[in-house]
Amino acid sequence: MRLADQEIKYLKGVGPKKAELLEKELGIRTCSDLLYFFPYKYIDRSRIYLIREIDATQTFIQIKGRITTFRVEGQRHKQRLVASFTDGTGTIELVWFQGAQWVTRNYQVNTEYVVFGRPAVYNHKLSIAHPEIEIPGKEETALYTPLQPQYSTTEKLKNSFLSSKAIHRIIGQILTQIDHLEETLPTGLMERLKLIDLDGAIRNMHYPESSEKLKKSVYRLKFEELFYIQLNILSQKFRQQTINRGLVFSKVGDYLNTFYRNNLRFELTEAQKRVIKEIRKDLGSGKQMNRLLQGDVGSGKTLVALMAMLIALDNGYQACLMAPTEILANQHFKTVSRFLENMNVGVLLLTGSTKKSERELLHEQLRSGELHILIGTHALLEDTVQFNNLGLVIIDEQHRFGVAQRAQLWKKTNQYPHVLVMTATPIPRTLAMTLYGDLDVSVIDELPPGRKPVQTIHYYESKRLVLFGFMRKQIEMGRQIYIVYPLIKESEKLDYVALEEGYEAIVRAFPPPQYAVVCVHGQMKPEDKEQGMQYFIRGKAQIMVATTVIEVGVDVPNASVMVIENAERFGLSQLHQLRGRVGRGADQSYCILMSSYKLSREGRKRLETMVQTNDGFEIAETDLKLRGPGDIEGTQQSGIPFDLKIANLGQDGQLLQYARDVAGELLEEDMNLEKPENQVLRKQLARLTKSQVDWSSIS
Ligand code: ADP
Ligand code: MG
Repeated sequence: MRLADQEIKYLKGVGPKKAELLEKELGIRTCSDLLYFFPYKYIDRSRIYLIREIDATQTFIQIKGRITTFRVEGQRHKQRLVASFTDGTGTIELVWFQGAQWVTRNYQVNTEYVVFGRPAVYNHKLSIAHPEIEIPGKEETALYTPLQPQYSTTEKLKNSFLSSKAIHRIIGQILTQIDHLEETLPTGLMERLKLIDLDGAIRNMHYPESSEKLKKSVYRLKFEELFYIQLNILSQKFRQQTINRGLVFSKVGDYLNTFYRNNLRFELTEAQKRVIKEIRKDLGSGKQMNRLLQGDVGSGKTLVALMAMLIALDNGYQACLMAPTEILANQHFKTVSRFLENMNVGVLLLTGSTKKSERELLHEQLRSGELHILIGTHALLEDTVQFNNLGLVIIDEQHRFGVAQRAQLWKKTNQYPHVLVMTATPIPRTLAMTLYGDLDVSVIDELPPGRKPVQTIHYYESKRLVLFGFMRKQIEMGRQIYIVYPLIKESEKLDYVALEEGYEAIVRAFPPPQYAVVCVHGQMKPEDKEQGMQYFIRGKAQIMVATTVIEVGVDVPNASVMVIENAERFGLSQLHQLRGRVGRGADQSYCILMSSYKLSREGRKRLETMVQTNDGFEIAETDLKLRGPGDIEGTQQSGIPFDLKIANLGQDGQLLQYARDVAGELLEEDMNLEKPENQVLRKQLARLTKSQVDWSSIS
């Protein structure tokens, strides 16, 4: 066993108790885990400040001088030990609220010390609370580093003497015991890309020789991390492509032509044309299509999906479309049925509420091939749903399904069908490359003509009367309005209260019979919910007060105002989704973000972003930067370890692309990693994917 794989409990000075705590608090079990536990920042200890330079704006300083006096200040329960410390240029107070005895026993007046800490001003005097104190020249010489790493720890760890410094010391101990860390990249590749070796990189992360060396280490480790993710995804993709010969859809026949000639009442946008071309090329290529179709709400993805399905039909195959919610499946079904009016295409809907008798007929028609297109929810995945010859699977909003479910559909046929995944949540390129790294990507980046971009306004609570006035005017013009309240699991009860109160306030301000207001939320019975929605959809109510149940729901072109209450509590992608509910007709539409005055920095940034741009991709990028990838929808189910150790998908987009290109080129030449120089890759990949499996089986 490599030393790096050894458990840390066997290390001197660690022992089982501390080891257990480290595992529980930080997930660190082996020496290797610890070596890859990187500092979150470094403090430059090469500089010694003069006390007269200190103004308490510094976050960390280091000074050299002597203690002149110790004294105890304050009343009994608030006693503190104060030392005056001087370096000849000024005086600063060192303050301890605990451990006074230990301090006076260990430090003397008139001895030279180096003191570290965060300066503050208290009672017009400079002070440092609980400083670190060292005797100059007594640094741990072999492992001394001017850039002192700071490791994140927890209260529990600190209480067990596992401070940042202690962790640093343990890492140092491991590093002195390890002769040379086994390299994990091929030498040729490292030379070509000018990467430093792993051993040097890891050592410099914990004991930087210089900031220059540190930079090179970070670069090497980030590259490696991203590179292996891409190598893993791309090798799977390459392998899949050679194993799964795709069905060849060579014909464009009656179905598509008839549809195009008779049923399509508008011009396709350039973006739609381009994407359909990309899809057609895939379908005819003899390779199985695995494509992600990204496009903002209303960009016309459903139409593109329909045309792809018609190509499948033209080649004698069935197609299915799967949506994440019943409402959405219903809507797709209606849209598709309407588009296919007067054409001889069998289309049916299958959801949890499909009746048993209908189901049986549907199953039969599906098996006989009489049914061409099946639209539905998760219900499509049930074993009883058997196709005659499924050729194309379309998945809407796939990230709510997860990769495992995507695979389940393939099991329904001997031959893998083509797969098109649609998402209206624009995904930053970096995330798409990892989360959907095995997919090719098409983007519809153009809205159908005649749409006016939604105008977004941020109002504080004090503008409520202005808002009501605006709403009345819009209703006079015949428009409809959504008002959405946040609903968050942790505060569900309070949220429902807010919703109820909001609803009552709206009814008071917009009383019957002149106005009709409906309220729709997740706690209602499905029938009542449906009824409320229908009321609004048919234009019988002018205002719908709702929770986010409408997020991926209804399509009401006449609705032109989206009011979002407590908008600061929504995530960016959710806000963007909600805004996409309006602006579907030809009228100017508005999104009004209501918030309190108290905004966090991030909350403010989210609202600003929404006001500034309608571009879903820009919003997604900002979201990624604000939240990090771990919190973005879909990343958890992906099976990809998104708690990256060093790379950051929000910041390292360019490096990710580079790593992907390098991995791709490498696999082009040696898909199975058989060349001698690539054995190191093969080994490391196996190691990494093995630990991945272990992780998922634990959780
Ligand atoms: P998405 O699924 O991307 O949200 P849809 O396919 O539902 O978008 O399209 C939104 C609306 O725009 C639908 O009413 C659709 O009929 C219409 N539409 C789609 N493509 C075009 C186009 N090229 N020109 C005009 N209207 C279009
Ligand atoms: Mg759609």
